[in-house]
Amino acid sequence: MGAFATLAECLNSKMVAQEQPLLVQALASIGAPAVRNRATLGGNIVYGKGDSIPALLVLEANVVLYHDGLATMPLSEWLQQKPNALLTEVEIGKWPDMTQRFWLYEKVGRRETFTASLVTVAGVAVLDNDQTIKELKLAVGGGEMVPHRLLEMEQRLIGKPLTNELLADVYQFIKQTGTLVGTPFATETYLRMVLANRIVSFVDGLRGGRGDGKTNDSL
Ligand SMILES: Cc1cc2nc3c(=O)[nH]c(=O)nc-3n(C[C@H](O)[C@H](O)[C@H](O)COP(=O)(O)OP(=O)(O)OC[C@H]3O[C@@H](n4cnc5c(N)ncnc54)[C@H](O)[C@@H]3O)c2cc1C
Repeated sequence: MGAFATLAECLNSKMVAQEQPLLVQALASIGAPAVRNRATLGGNIVYGKGDSIPALLVLEANVVLYHDGLATMPLSEWLQQKPNALLTEVEIGKWPDMTQRFWLYEKVGRRETFTASLVTVAGVAVLDNDQTIKELKLAVGGGEMVPHRLLEMEQRLIGKPLTNELLADVYQFIKQTGTLVGTPFATETYLRMVLANRIVSFVDGLRGGRGDGKTNDSL
């Protein structure tokens, strides 16, 4: 996707709607229509705290940069280095497996629409036939946080049977560890509780074949 595409152009693209429902949900949560008509995908990323970033992190997006020539790097790396370069493209792979793949995207704000994010969480999960999690990618952003993947939490869940004990363990883990950044509007403790509730309810839903969405869901 071109970095200079507006969020509205991305949302109006049939290809994006068909192939990237998680990204569509993320982009639709940004600002109001008037903002999305002017705001670009590249600007949302380089701004550093854009609500598209957690979604792009779990989709393992790459960014294409121009500075004395073109270079490609994972978005996760770009977030660490923030090189001084023009962002020209965002590359997102096609989701290969169209079954048993679930996703989560939620922006939690102080009201339902047109609000800044307190915490934004995104996830992609692929289940094995025996209902264990084969692949899991989780990311968090929002507020003053630099968006990042929740790698330790992913490792706690991958390959394990989805028991109540595991979910309780993950809930406690999120509530006690990791770095979330509180704001005057929401303490770190509150953000942890929101994150724990959202992730555990997503993983719990996987046991019943429910996610926020499956890749073949229509929006
Ligand atoms: C009323 C309002 C509501 C908003 N709501 C949200 C929201 O809900 N969620 C959210 O995530 N954001 C929100 N924003 C913030 C912002 O408008 C969006 O993140 C938008 O996507 C930024 O894109 P832009 O093209 O306007 O970038 P700009 O604001 O013009 O640029 C942002 C930064 O990125 C740099 N930049 C832009 N494009 C590139 C590029 N291609 N390569 C290198 N550097 C670049 C600019 O120099 C600047 O430093 C909101 C803004 C307003 C005004």
